[in-house]
Amino acid sequence: MMSTPASSLITKDGAVVGVKASGPDGKDYTLYASKGVILATGGFSANVKMRNQYDEIWDKKLDNQVKTTNMPAITGDGINMAVKAGAGLKDMGYIQLLPTTDPATGATNHKIVESTNIYVNKQGNRFVNEQGRRDVLAKAALAQPDHVFYVIGTEQTLLKDKEGRGPYGILISDLLKQKKAFKADTLDELAKKLGMNPDNLKRTVAKWNEFCKTQKGDEFGRMSCEEGNKLPGGPYYASVMTPSVHHTMGGVTIDEDTRVLDKNGRPIRGLYAAGEITGGIHGTNRVGCNAVPDALIFGTIAGREVGK
Ligand SMILES: Cc1cc2nc3c(=O)[nH]c(=O)nc-3n(C[C@H](O)[C@H](O)[C@H](O)COP(=O)(O)OP(=O)(O)OC[C@H]3O[C@@H](n4cnc5c(N)ncnc54)[C@H](O)[C@@H]3O)c2cc1C
Repeated sequence: MMSTPASSLITKDGAVVGVKASGPDGKDYTLYASKGVILATGGFSANVKMRNQYDEIWDKKLDNQVKTTNMPAITGDGINMAVKAGAGLKDMGYIQLLPTTDPATGATNHKIVESTNIYVNKQGNRFVNEQGRRDVLAKAALAQPDHVFYVIGTEQTLLKDKEGRGPYGILISDLLKQKKAFKADTLDELAKKLGMNPDNLKRTVAKWNEFCKTQKGDEFGRMSCEEGNKLPGGPYYASVMTPSVHHTMGGVTIDEDTRVLDKNGRPIRGLYAAGEITGGIHGTNRVGCNAVPDALIFGTIAGREVGK
């Protein structure tokens, strides 16, 4: 049933037996489940109120100015419904920001160079080990002027297909027109386009190239400069970036059979949950690529359990 958000859980004698929902035509629906209800409504990255209510990492600064990579429906509905049915919560304070997103939209689709290429602030200086954890990178980026930085690349290592499209299928020429990315033949010209001090940028790139040769003594403690991170010469590219809310590690407490647990750790009969709605799976900083397996594996378990 598309565009039919669930609004509450129906309980009977302490067990969850169905959901209430409303359809796009304004019609209300009451749906009963004979074997159980599985919550799979994702996290709460797009719910500004919840972000600031629960945040324990970002000094309650995840307001409307901070974009999200998520779609607008990811507002923690399932978490709030489960809480009303008595569910316990875990790790709600751990909210992940993805450092490399579009300042205008929060999207990631303007990527054109490796995310581990050097990050340069508006003054033309590097400020962090780009191979670090997402929370470390985001914190460092938020300490830069206007929370903005540029990821620098070159023509040789550009991530583009034969039609000139980046990894998300967008023409790089369009990204340049939209000023989501910048291109210049020399570092002087690139600095001018980005409004940064050219001497700083040249010094930053020279130091970086030196590290790429020796792979030793990086001022920010990087372990390596990989082939795709090298900046051997122009034309150069820069993608404009800022951190946006990406993943919420917290959520309802479940056991290994995906049964939702109450505040005392006892299963709530008839209620199951899987995916980003659950808490305690990823610790304080979800590692990239582990969320889809989380949703798929626990979703499969939930289906099996309810189908028994
Ligand atoms: C841009 C981006 C890139 C990512 N890249 C990766 C990656 O490469 N690897 C990886 O592992 N993870 C990645 N993630 C994270 C991963 O996609 C999510 O954690 C995962 O999709 C969560 O799956 P889910 O099924 O729990 O919830 P979601 O996929 O968020 O789905 C929740 C669904 O519930 C619906 N819903 C919400 N509220 C209600 C309601 N009240 N009633 C009915 N339906 C409702 C929503 O409309 C949505 O369809 C990425 C996330 C983003 C945003």
